[in-house]
Amino acid sequence: MSTVQKKAPLNPVTPSHALEFGGHLCTPILTLLTPITIYGLYFSCSSPSGCPAPFAQWIPNFLELDWLRGFLDPTAFLIYFGWYAFTVAAWKFLPGDLVEGTELRAGGRKTYKINAFSTLLLALGLTTGRIIHAGAESFTFLYDHYLGLITASLVMSVGQALWVQANSYKGDQEKKLLAVGGNSGFFWYDFWMGRELNPSIGDFDIKTFNELRPGLILWMLLDISCACEQWCRLGGRITPSMAMVVFFHSFYVVDAVFNESAIFTQMDITTDGFGFMLSLGDLAWVPFTYSLQARYLAFHPTELSPAAIAGIVGLQTVGYYIFRTSNGEKNDFRLGHNPKNLTSMQTERGTKLLTSGWWGRSRHPNYLGDWLMAWAWCLPAGFDTPIPYFYVVYFGILLVHRQTRDDEQCKLKYGKDWDKYCKLVPYKIIPYIY
Ligand code: NDP
Repeated sequence: MSTVQKKAPLNPVTPSHALEFGGHLCTPILTLLTPITIYGLYFSCSSPSGCPAPFAQWIPNFLELDWLRGFLDPTAFLIYFGWYAFTVAAWKFLPGDLVEGTELRAGGRKTYKINAFSTLLLALGLTTGRIIHAGAESFTFLYDHYLGLITASLVMSVGQALWVQANSYKGDQEKKLLAVGGNSGFFWYDFWMGRELNPSIGDFDIKTFNELRPGLILWMLLDISCACEQWCRLGGRITPSMAMVVFFHSFYVVDAVFNESAIFTQMDITTDGFGFMLSLGDLAWVPFTYSLQARYLAFHPTELSPAAIAGIVGLQTVGYYIFRTSNGEKNDFRLGHNPKNLTSMQTERGTKLLTSGWWGRSRHPNYLGDWLMAWAWCLPAGFDTPIPYFYVVYFGILLVHRQTRDDEQCKLKYGKDWDKYCKLVPYKIIPYIY
């Protein structure tokens, strides 16, 4: 009898009981619903229709040429594809350190070029130069072409997701590294989840590139464009509410881009494939739904009392403190440092889990900080309409869903050690509450 053990396949088929996001039924719906939501937020809240716009205007009349021109705006396509090309050129030509990611399932590590922050500085330098030289009105073109830019970003997202999906079937399948959760064999599901873990063109890693550069930096530029629009409408000033929204969003973007290598340990990079969920999320959803409050304030300036301003700044500060210190504690620990001498438990998997500091208070303290900041981004819009609060509601749902997904992954990774950790740290996100 042969004693040779059969090696576990590198790319197992994703079993039907492990399908996420509602599996075969919900992923086609999500694929359609997410772009519709981006357009929906635009049509339900924009100038001159108002916010909320009368319901009859939520669904545009496609027979009217104005709508079509807005949707399929050639200038917007030029701007968007020019912007994308700029970020690729910046990645290629700006200097940057080469940093290794986490160990891959197939063994070895990928090397990434770290220069997202210099890309941001270059983009901001050019933007500031233009505004100083030609005035705020010279930078309202992103606000003016917002609808066409949405379409252009969607074309890019769909195009990239289809291309990587088709490419994942080319070449030697034994040598490809597929996402464990994106290889079900069901087209829509794999298209949404992403079949290949790290699709690349040479040393250009498509997933990490899209994660921080073309969408995230564009979000900040869209915000600045909205502030310029308000400046022009108010005859040369912006309200404190607009200043706060732009500053808070920009701070978040700068923080993420400055700490670029921190994304290598995140679920998107280590676990999820690059499919429509990430291409749409990175390129269209983040810039065009996250800038909603700034876009609303551009045509609906809101004045806040000094007490309201102080309260919102306080909320942002507390949220950011929890977000940054908790992410910092885990990143330091995973990189082999423990400056605060936090306690931890050894696991059979080999790695340790923190049991004090923020990770001893709840299993996802970083989500709590992020969600508090989400409130601080929405409150400056005031209470005339609920639409700018879309972000805080959606983000709450995303974080609870993400926590469930991550806990399931951790249970798979750590087995009974994870149960032990859950007993030590019973709260999922908010200490003593949830
Ligand atoms: P996390 O940074 O929360 O990392 C989860 C991983 O951390 C686990 O899989 C586990 O991996 C490790 N871990 C869990 N518990 C411990 C512990 N006690 N000690 C040490 N390591 C532990 O993952 P996310 O990628 O979900 O979030 C990263 C940040 O990005 C968050 O701040 C989140 O709010 C933010 N985010 C923002 C979004 C946005 O749109 N604005 C969207 C999604 C996330 P292992 O043990 O294998 O290392």
